[in-house]
Amino acid sequence: MIQDIGEGVFSNAFSTEPPYEGAPLYCYRGNDILVKGDEYAPELPTYGELTPACHHLFFMEGKGCYINEEILKTPEGFRYVNAPALARSHPDRKIAFSVITGLQLSRWEQSRKFCGRCGAPTERSQVERAMICPKCGQLEYPKICPATITAITHNGKLLLARGKNSPPGRYGLIAGFCEIGETFEETVKREAMEEVGIKVKNVTYFKNQPWGFSDSQMIGFFAELDGDDETLCLQESELAEAHWFTPDEVPHPANDISIFSEIVWKFLTDHGIERV
Ligand SMILES: [Zn+2]
Repeated sequence: MIQDIGEGVFSNAFSTEPPYEGAPLYCYRGNDILVKGDEYAPELPTYGELTPACHHLFFMEGKGCYINEEILKTPEGFRYVNAPALARSHPDRKIAFSVITGLQLSRWEQSRKFCGRCGAPTERSQVERAMICPKCGQLEYPKICPATITAITHNGKLLLARGKNSPPGRYGLIAGFCEIGETFEETVKREAMEEVGIKVKNVTYFKNQPWGFSDSQMIGFFAELDGDDETLCLQESELAEAHWFTPDEVPHPANDISIFSEIVWKFLTDHGIERV
């Protein structure tokens, strides 16, 4: 998965250290990030090459990384590229994961410039990763939205669904954001009922992953159809189709960055299909 870059490589320890010569710079502009060099494996700028107003972002391999406070006009020799696309395709998973995690923090900082309670301009806390309102004291932490993603199975088959906006052939699992007051297991059951009209049982935790693409934390589960009626009733506002797939029919995941692929491969290998 995208966060599997080795233990201790990424550290979100808070720091107020100023940037230093050679520090990796994460310069975002909306969903784009500033890079240089190779088309296939672009590099990030370093502090010194560019000297924007910036502050500490996180550590990668013990090195402090920095994020821009001002949007830079494209400097000579650099270009902006779509950060989520880079994170999906970059061959160096450390770059991929750090770029999408930095984007999540950038989006959060950009959307918390003013206090949601009193409207005053906010400031970055000097003691933790938070935005603080100097007027009323309101504190805002990074936005992380928990969501469940579930492999629902029955009689050796896996339920896959295609979202309304997904192209034909691109299937996903039943997934959705947790609502307030809900346990993760309750989210799994509610989403199964809402999206495909079925009851599930034996909801079992599998793995989880941070997913900066949608500011979320994906919590993966397996669950079984409760009963024998495989009839699906689609939530047409969200889904184009959903079917029960035998192991031989399940399309192999296109990449291995997401918990989706991890769950699907778990299902397939449990049914004797070798992971490729
Ligand atoms: Zn306030």
